[in-house]
Amino acid sequence: MNILVTGGAGFIGSHVVEKHLNRGDHVTAIDDLSTGHRDNIAAFESNARFCLVEADLMDWEGLAGAAEAADRVYHLAAVVGMFRVLREPVRVTQVNVCATERLLETIATCAHRPQVVIASSSSVYSHSRSRDLREDDELVYLPREGGLTGYALSKLSNEIQAMAYRQEHGLQVTIPRLFNAVGPRQSPNYGFVLPRFIKQALAGEPLTVFGDGTQTRSFCDVRDTIAAIDLLAGNAAAAGQPVNVGNDRETRIVDLARMVIERTGSRSEIEFVPFAQAYGAQFDQITQRHPVTERLEALTGFRPHWNLEQTIDDLLGCARETSERRAA
Ligand code: UDP
Repeated sequence: MNILVTGGAGFIGSHVVEKHLNRGDHVTAIDDLSTGHRDNIAAFESNARFCLVEADLMDWEGLAGAAEAADRVYHLAAVVGMFRVLREPVRVTQVNVCATERLLETIATCAHRPQVVIASSSSVYSHSRSRDLREDDELVYLPREGGLTGYALSKLSNEIQAMAYRQEHGLQVTIPRLFNAVGPRQSPNYGFVLPRFIKQALAGEPLTVFGDGTQTRSFCDVRDTIAAIDLLAGNAAAAGQPVNVGNDRETRIVDLARMVIERTGSRSEIEFVPFAQAYGAQFDQITQRHPVTERLEALTGFRPHWNLEQTIDDLLGCARETSERRAA
């Protein structure tokens, strides 16, 4: 297969690249290296079946040719990470909405149309009142200047754009709603909690728990995330509808901090940081996020392979290997 991955040097993108290269496919990654990083794909750069294009999806001239040549496109390029999302609201709309539009429009005009995976996010549930989040839930948004709503709506918009192109142009679109992917190559620089906690614990610094830490997330190892996406993309019955992709084990953030300290054997303590200090006064925290994964399971039979403890141990192993390599 020929695979095109937008955001291919990013955290999730680099795992998609790796999976398809391991399968013998040809992979082109496009990335503007804004949050993505060359280090993420360094191991594949010598592979003759891999090519990285450093470009902005908004004006990349090679897009039509690459889309025409592809059998499957993963659209993962987006402004991500809470710190970045809050700092760059204009870029959120430009990249997440306008670049997606350009991509879908381009694919719709291809003679040989690839199937497309449009990455959505659990953030579409925003301030949903349900405890257990289902794809058909009514959605609740709290519009605020500079808030998270811009990101949430950009991802909801991506879903609607994908469905519109399916309806009018017959595109085969897969729409995974991704719940808190974690794992190797996730950067601590943009706010993501697990790589931050691991970095802090290994440095013996306090783990910064925002708020009182009772807010929950359901963390899914990225290798499970991409395995589930691949199964969905390979199933025509899954096309055209959002599907929760995640691990249904819910964890309080303060418990995550304790877990990381324990598994690291670190002497770090927990420091509680008010949300306003972490993200600014306008911030409305999402207090709970728990996916119902019945649709995913019914369509694919998928169950996660990794649990959170294994992912943390794997990350600690990666971090120790890196520091030994640097010391050698
Ligand atoms: N968080 C935290 N300390 C940090 C970074 C994040 O307590 O240093 C919290 C954050 O407030 C949120 C949770 O961890 O409640 C998950 O944050 P992340 O940005 O990883 O994902 P998202 O909020 O987008 O689900």
